[in-house]
Amino acid sequence: MPTTLTGVLQHLIPPLLLTYFYFAWKICTFEIAPQLVSDNRIHPFFSFNHEDHSDVEPMIERCYKGKCGGRWKPARSRHCSICERCRGGWDHHCPFFANCLSAPYMRSFLALLLYTVPTVFIISSPLYVPIFQRLKAAYLYSKSDQYIRENWWDWTYSWVVAGGPIGRYAGAAILGWRQLDRSDGGGIVRLNIGLMVGFGIILALISAGLAFTTITLLLEGNLTIDKGRSSAHQQALIAIEKLKQQNQPIPAGLIADLARFSDKRHFFVPLPATLQKPGRKGIVIETLDHEKPYDHGWKKNLIIVLGLEWSWLLPWNALKRGMGDEVFIWPIKQGVERRLRKEAERKATLEIVD
Ligand SMILES: [Zn+2]
Ligand SMILES: [Zn+2]
Repeated sequence: MPTTLTGVLQHLIPPLLLTYFYFAWKICTFEIAPQLVSDNRIHPFFSFNHEDHSDVEPMIERCYKGKCGGRWKPARSRHCSICERCRGGWDHHCPFFANCLSAPYMRSFLALLLYTVPTVFIISSPLYVPIFQRLKAAYLYSKSDQYIRENWWDWTYSWVVAGGPIGRYAGAAILGWRQLDRSDGGGIVRLNIGLMVGFGIILALISAGLAFTTITLLLEGNLTIDKGRSSAHQQALIAIEKLKQQNQPIPAGLIADLARFSDKRHFFVPLPATLQKPGRKGIVIETLDHEKPYDHGWKKNLIIVLGLEWSWLLPWNALKRGMGDEVFIWPIKQGVERRLRKEAERKATLEIVD
């Protein structure tokens, strides 16, 4: 039986982690908002029913790819070519869970990333000292062994194969380590255990970095898809600027990209009953430049995605969202929503007068 705290944790964490993965797999697979387009629980600005709006508005983005079949593409959604459907609040397609990660599952995703870091370090911590000693011995062995000296250190191409000085040290250590393992069996410090611990540490560092960038984006009221949009916009701008300088014609596709990825958003704004007419229950309205309809200030932005308290980090809470078929909506800033409604009513009134 383990006696120290580390020992207990080492025995507890793997089964807990497997359980977590089991539940995460269950909630994340094949259940992400297929009802995205016509579900009436969705904020009306994001939903679009064909029976509500028979006119084909040129401003409406529709998706004709995969299984989407011309459905409206709500704000902040992106078509995943692997899942063959549009995902609201798209972040990335995860090959491990064979599904897309989208805004409703951000909490579980962040919890997984943040758990990975201490988990890896706690599980592998008892091995650091012996592995470090073994590494040192392996390096010294590689220096003294004639075979390794001739075939690695003195071999010119080792610079190329290893990709530079650090890689050369790593390569030599691995060769030395393998030789040591051959002579004494290696025990708990054999080469593949050392490599596994190294891989785990890299994984933990990547997780920490990813958690950091995701949280930074969320604080600004942005999702990964927004960042993708603005860099696509930036790229189109740069390309157009270049062509202009070279006095070359600008292709229509680039201009379309510039408009498509701009800061402007289009919302389907429902009209009051008096202004509705058959086939039109609302109007699509564009936001103003830099209106930032989603940025409510960092505190509220975090609360929107992660829930009210820090307790979302507890595994049973982290898993909660997404267990049902809950639909997640990032609300539009009140002032912006008011302006959009006014604008829709103004337009509708003008049409009636005409
Ligand atoms: Zn689509
Ligand atoms: Zn996908």
